[in-house]
Order: sequence, then C-alpha cells, then structure tokens
Amino acid sequence: MSQIKIVNLQKSFGDFTAVKNSNLTIYDKEFFVLLGPSGCGKTTTLRMIAGLELPTSGEIFLGKEEVGMLRASERDIAFVFQLFALYPHMNVRNNLSFPLKMQGYKKNDIKTRVEEAAKLLRIDHLLNSNISSLSGGDRQRVALGRALVRRPKAFLMDEPLGTLDAEFRELMCLELKKLHIDIGATTVYVTHDQLEAMSLADRIAVMDGGQILQADEPNIIYNKPKTKFVASFIGSPGMNFIDVNEGISQEQSSISIEDTNFNIPKQFETSKSNKNFFGIRPENLSLTNEGGLKGSVFGVEYLGSRKIITIKTKIGEIKVKTDISINIKLNENVQIKPSNDNIIIFDGETDKSLKSEFMK
Ligand code: ATP
Repeated sequence: MSQIKIVNLQKSFGDFTAVKNSNLTIYDKEFFVLLGPSGCGKTTTLRMIAGLELPTSGEIFLGKEEVGMLRASERDIAFVFQLFALYPHMNVRNNLSFPLKMQGYKKNDIKTRVEEAAKLLRIDHLLNSNISSLSGGDRQRVALGRALVRRPKAFLMDEPLGTLDAEFRELMCLELKKLHIDIGATTVYVTHDQLEAMSLADRIAVMDGGQILQADEPNIIYNKPKTKFVASFIGSPGMNFIDVNEGISQEQSSISIEDTNFNIPKQFETSKSNKNFFGIRPENLSLTNEGGLKGSVFGVEYLGSRKIITIKTKIGEIKVKTDISINIKLNENVQIKPSNDNIIIFDGETDKSLKSEFMK
C-alpha cells in the first residue's frame, strides 16, 4: 500500500512561504501530476515527499507511516531527477547495479533485479553499452532503471523529460505511461507542461503561488475548473473570459451581452458580486449568420483537423475553434454564438467558479 498523504504541509525559506498549507492524498498506484508555472512550489512539494527538504510544518504519510522527519534514505521512495547523473565511464549494467551495490545487495540478487528492470524498459540489449553511446531516450530509460531496481514504494519525478526535444518527449511520455501500467507503482510527477500533464496523469493538482488550487482528473480540470487560474492555465488556446458585469441569480437562465443571448446552465448559487464573468472554451463557441456577437477576424491558425479563429469584438478578443472546412478570411465580419450551454460563471471578486448544473 503506497498511498502518499500530505496534511497541512508548509515550507518557508526565511520570510518566504514556498508551499502553503497543502493537503493531498495520492492513491496507491496512481500517476499523479503536480502542475503549475515556474516558482509555484511543485519541486519543493516533491522534495519534501522525497525527504530532501524538511517541512516547516505539517505531515507526510507514506502508507500509514508518518515520514515527514525521516531522511530520504529512510523512505522507500525513488527520485528521478531532471538532470540525472548517470556515470559516463560505466556501462549500462554497472549504472543499474550501482544503487544496489551501495545498499549491500548480493551479486545474484543484483543480477536478477538489473536484468528484470532492463527487460521491462527494453534496454536489455544495451546492458554492455557505454552511457556515452546511448541516445537521449535510452539514457532516460537507464535513469528510470536505476530507480526501478530498488523496487521502491513510489517514484518521484521532477520534469524528467525536460531536456528532451519535442518529438522524443512525446515518445517518452508514451513509454512512461506504459511503464507505469506495467509496474503499477505510485508516481508523483512534476511538470509545468499542461499537455504532458493531461496525457500522463490519472489526476492533476494545479498549483499557483505555493497553493494547490484543484486536484482532479484531467477531464474535470479541463471542463470544470474551480478557479480562473486553473481555467486559463489548462487548454491550448486557453478559455475565453467574457465580462458580464452584473449579478446572476439562481432563477436566471440567460444573459444578454451586446445584444447576444447566452443561455446559462441552471445555477445552484446566486453570485455575491456584480462583477461576474463567463468562461467559455473556444470549442464551445461557433460562427453564425445572425443573432451573434459581432466582430472581425483578426487571426486564423491551423491546428491539424481544426482551426482557431481569433475575433476582435467590442468586448475583447475571442477565440473560436472551428472545423477545418470552414472558409474564413482575415478582416471578415463574423458573428459568434455559444454552440451549447457549457458556460462557466466565475465570481469577479473571488475568481472562483459558481456551482451550476454544468459544474456539478
Ligand atoms: P520550477 O518549475 O521553476 O522549478 P517550482 O514550481 O518547482 O518551479 P520551486 O522550485 O518549488 O518551484 O520553488 C518555489 C519557490 O521557492 C520559488 O520562488 C523558489 O525561488 C523558492 N525556493 C525554492 N528553494 C529555495 C531555497 N532553498 N531557498 C530559498 N528559496 C527557495
């Protein structure tokens, strides 16, 4: 049982609090991603779980054991660093054997574990190769192998694909996901790349300013963000925000903005502020011939099977994701309307989304 639980975890460096009162439960065998912009406290959280940094306050449980004050070597956890130090003068077998030798394992056990890990990672044919002759991807596998041979309760990874080029990254993402399914070890993975997070994670925690804003499955993070920050950090392009500038009651089923009717989902809360705003994903808007929000086309980007149209309107720039077949020219006058009721209402004072039928 390798559930990881953090309770009221906090870390300060002098006057600066890098991680603020965080609570999380990472389930056994889960692939859990800590996602957020640079400096939001992802690495500090991971280092505290690893035992490389001591918490200022709070608790960390590995299974039932509270490990917050234990040294890294006393926790059954393997850390895969971004800039991992492989021994360039040793071959793959010796690189994989090294952590076990240091822990005093018998020769035969080392051989078994190394060959098993190499097979799982499909680098068994490279056991006698020198590190310097390997590709970036194979080096990454050796780095993972060094963590794997210890058969740890959990893996911690800090941007392990950060140094790879885009194509390799995609490939290694798939490899990591496959590997995780094969070995089923609890994994906590740090990245600032939302696409990487969406493709790898069972669940994602989005962090900002040392705080965990939301921890949920990728589709919930994408479709039902709890705050404006989460909504804007996830998605490419991000969500459109449209000012409503009026209060919204529970009874209300639509709102008119610039003579355009926006149907809103049934609300379970009456907004406290009169500075609310809508959040609408570009794929939940479409172009129409009449009755829509008027604007002119400012940009057209091709995204494989879809087009992103940027439209300048009186209330700001709005992005619409359309079918590739839609023929649209720069400066053309168009009208935009919601294509469904997938509209999120955010409270303008708290930036939090209001509960509605859609957000349920
Ligand atoms: P990145 O992706 O850039 O590594 P991150 O989200 O992982 O960002 P952290 O490395 O956890 O962020 O850092 C969070 C904040 O804490 C940053 O402002 C960083 O400068 C600060 N910080 C981290 N370690 C220390 C330290 N040892 N001493 C002082 N400040 C630190």
